[in-house]
Amino acid sequence: MDSRFCGNDRAFMGMTKMKKEPIHPRELDAAERAKGFDEVCLVYTEEQALQEASRCIQCKDPACIAGCPVEIDIKKFIAQIADKDYKGAYFTLREKNNFPSMCGRVCPAEYQCRKTCVFTKKDAPFASEKAINIHFLERFVGDYGMKEKLETPAYIDERLSKFKIAVVGSGPAGLCCAGELARRGVKVVVYETLHKPGGVLRYGIPPFRLPQDVLDVEIDYLKKLGVEIRPNIIIGKTKSLDELFEEGFSCVFLGLGAGTPSFMGVEGENLCNVYSANEFLTRVNLMSAYKFPAYHTPINVGKHIMVIGGGNTAMDAARVAYRLQMIKGIEPSVTVFYRRTETEMPARRLEIEHAKEEGISFEFLVQPTGFIGDDKGYVKKIKALRCELGEPDSSGRRRPVPIKGSEFEADCDEAIIALGLKANQILIEATPEIKTDKWSDIIVDKDTMETSIKKVYAGGDIVGGEGTVIEAMGMAKKASRSIIDYLLKQ
Ligand SMILES: Cc1cc2nc3c(=O)[nH]c(=O)nc-3n(C[C@H](O)[C@H](O)[C@H](O)COP(=O)(O)OP(=O)(O)OC[C@H]3O[C@@H](n4cnc5c(N)ncnc54)[C@H](O)[C@@H]3O)c2cc1C
Repeated sequence: MDSRFCGNDRAFMGMTKMKKEPIHPRELDAAERAKGFDEVCLVYTEEQALQEASRCIQCKDPACIAGCPVEIDIKKFIAQIADKDYKGAYFTLREKNNFPSMCGRVCPAEYQCRKTCVFTKKDAPFASEKAINIHFLERFVGDYGMKEKLETPAYIDERLSKFKIAVVGSGPAGLCCAGELARRGVKVVVYETLHKPGGVLRYGIPPFRLPQDVLDVEIDYLKKLGVEIRPNIIIGKTKSLDELFEEGFSCVFLGLGAGTPSFMGVEGENLCNVYSANEFLTRVNLMSAYKFPAYHTPINVGKHIMVIGGGNTAMDAARVAYRLQMIKGIEPSVTVFYRRTETEMPARRLEIEHAKEEGISFEFLVQPTGFIGDDKGYVKKIKALRCELGEPDSSGRRRPVPIKGSEFEADCDEAIIALGLKANQILIEATPEIKTDKWSDIIVDKDTMETSIKKVYAGGDIVGGEGTVIEAMGMAKKASRSIIDYLLKQ
């Protein structure tokens, strides 16, 4: 028997419960939800949370914790739910994660904590259906804390209160670093280019996956800890890194993210109504284009919309585009073009399922080769080639190989390109002393997260390239520990 099963009494009791089926939270009906931007997944009821928590067998050496980049004590918080100690569970979560309601909604748990759950077979590509739904439980507890307005204790260290730290970027990396430092009593100022904080959580992930008020509550918690957020400031343009140090900041954390879109470099990519997914989503999510006519942010809504890519960004863009067609009374027609098969798609499984349920069409093994415009410069057709899968590439996924003579054209009066994002460059270009790698990501000491400039730390997508929310937070936590170590030596 697996040694992880030979634990305490609770584990033994859990064994008898192993046959219980996984509990899924209720979701809005697909046809109804595609008409608007209301949240799709609902929170567990208390009964559902108790049932799901009772499936956890409380392994002696829980492998799930190693699958969580911020090392939440998953075993403990689930046991607390099973004991109906929701307040205790909330504090257990908050000890390691400042944003449980947010992570419970967006974490790709099937590639992280659920993948290392004992109910997932070793070396499986993603979590088994039977793996405990840790993310749904986390959301249940996070939302409970939000509803009950629970305050998390701070661990103020008087020695740290004389220092101030600048954080550049207010995505999950910047916000996490700010929260960790503020909880210990450090004064933190967060600088953000956009007019609202949150990074991708605000401008990229649509409200039907992460409602903006959930994000606001999580950010308000930081403000209560004394974190000051200064929007509309580009570090590297409005002020330099040197100027931050001159203003008296002891250290700087860079959570700049990866927001620069990649393009295919094919003919017709500059035609009107060919968008990058980032621009499209920013107009809708951050600038409320979907609330027309209350907001005047312009956005085109085509009749035949093609989304190119297979990641979370592509799924979000497709689902947003479909909703816009519904809102505008256009017969919906959104097709995702992906050059590999569904198995290789990097998007979260749940998002792919939701997209299919809502009516998005998928064309697999298809590679766009260009766009054809009308005489006014607007896109009217997409050109593509069919592919087959070849040998695995450096990512381990089988490479798409175009099939000769398989060219075809399809109607397309709007295209959204979601092919991956590269590092945000403004600060890097303004600060040549920062060393970067061949992808222009910032190079850091992996133990301390310090960059090539002393007292400047970095984390999140600007370091590892496009990753996940919780990975960004994991790096930011590591950097915050290094910053505290440094400050305590001053
Ligand atoms: C559409 C989309 C959907 C996604 N869905 C998921 C998901 O479901 N689950 C998941 O785990 N991950 C998801 N991801 C990935 C995840 O959002 C990122 O990995 C994460 O946001 C990275 O956090 P970050 O803080 O490093 O960067 P970001 O979130 O990009 O934040 C960086 C912030 O820094 C600001 N900034 C940049 N330069 C400067 C400067 N010079 N001065 C001031 N401010 C600056 C930017 O404006 C931005 O607000 C998604 C990504 C996208 C694009």
